[in-house]
Amino acid sequence: MSSGNGKRNPYLLAQETFLRYAEAVKLNDRYPGLNLEQRLTTPDRSIEFRLSVTCDNGAIKSFTASRVQFNDDRGPYKGGLRFHPTGTLDHCKALAFWMYLKTAVVDIPFGGAKGAIAVDYDTLSLNEKERLTKRYAVILRNDIGHDKDIPAPDVGTGEREMTWIMDAWRMIHGKYDRGIVTGKPVSIGGSQGRRAATGRGVVFCIEEAAREHGIDLKKTTAAVQGFGKVGASAAEFLFEDGCKVVAASDVHGAVYCKQGLDIPKLIEHTEKSGSVVGFAGAEKLDRDAVLEQDVDILVPAALENSITSDNVKSIKARMIAEGANGPTTPNADEALASRKVLVIPDVLCNAGGVTVSYFEWVQNRQEFYWTAEQVDKELHRIMTSAYGQVSALAKKHKCTLREAAYRIAIERVAEACVRRGSQ
Ligand code: NAD
Repeated sequence: MSSGNGKRNPYLLAQETFLRYAEAVKLNDRYPGLNLEQRLTTPDRSIEFRLSVTCDNGAIKSFTASRVQFNDDRGPYKGGLRFHPTGTLDHCKALAFWMYLKTAVVDIPFGGAKGAIAVDYDTLSLNEKERLTKRYAVILRNDIGHDKDIPAPDVGTGEREMTWIMDAWRMIHGKYDRGIVTGKPVSIGGSQGRRAATGRGVVFCIEEAAREHGIDLKKTTAAVQGFGKVGASAAEFLFEDGCKVVAASDVHGAVYCKQGLDIPKLIEHTEKSGSVVGFAGAEKLDRDAVLEQDVDILVPAALENSITSDNVKSIKARMIAEGANGPTTPNADEALASRKVLVIPDVLCNAGGVTVSYFEWVQNRQEFYWTAEQVDKELHRIMTSAYGQVSALAKKHKCTLREAAYRIAIERVAEACVRRGSQ
């Protein structure tokens, strides 16, 4: 499978990447006859269904929705829920695939899943949003559960949607089970620190990489593509570390400030206006030019396939911290590796979110809640330990951090899969 063209089906790209690294760990030679390559590159179960919702004006609208349960060899399925026009079945398969690899890289006891509704969610009213989300939960009432499959926020969804899902599930089953979703508000069983966890984890990885390569973050500049839950919190922690975040974008456009954007103020502006665009004290920038800024650190935190063979030559950053899932296509990744750009891969870099989701699930099961300091300390421990393991293996094999992360994940999942037997 070649990835010669710029953008392609993310599921095929995910399979291509996996197979390349499965060969590096000699998966077939180690486990002959067990067909692991196929078992680990195809989902256990893909559910695709039509969702019909009555709009406020009485009209009925239909959407295509899905949930992909990719692999549960190491624990219950776990993965976000995306409400976005790109929420197709193949996107879901790719995202669920990366999810089980990610939970293995940070060694938390989950598999991987992902769900989506292909919808332009922003165009719906609040009541329509609630009906759509609850309908999704009703259809999947017997497929999700704290010991089966646990949804969480992703693009377009957040605490509000997780609460609606928990509520729909409670109405059907007649009992509370907070652990059926993570990313809930703290007031109803969410975890301290979950909201910012993915961005926090991204910056923990950047700090480790900086320490390892003798970089003083106070002397660095950064650009962030996608100023949503992940991008804005990553920008905030970089800002706190003294890094100058000079550019930031969202789907509507981008802003630039040579002296560094005032990130807390930019967050305030975005919360009020819904976009980074129009932020006082910053220049306007073309949306996609954010990727091509001459900065030390680039954080792609929007969608898949941002860095491709079409634009990789224009990328000037020395370090790329993948906040988004699948932002770099395999051939762009190769080009970056040949230029010695340090890429902290998604399956490691953005694992902070699912790690604090794991803490939330543990707290829900015990109904005993941690302080923000405990969450932060445990997240730091897990992220720095995972970074250390990946980095050490990369040095041993003289390979990229992505290859090292995949080697670790593939070995952990293959071992669990084989131990479970084949009957
Ligand atoms: P979000 O919906 O909160 O934010 C997405 C942001 O990207 C928005 O600001 C949107 O305007 C922007 N965007 C969309 N298209 C863009 C484009 N072409 N150029 C620039 N900006 C664009 O979503 P999120 O939860 O922050 O997720 C972002 C990425 O991080 C996704 O790839 C997601 O799968 C991944 N991720 C999220 C989490 C999590 O906990 N939310 C965890 C791990 C990975």
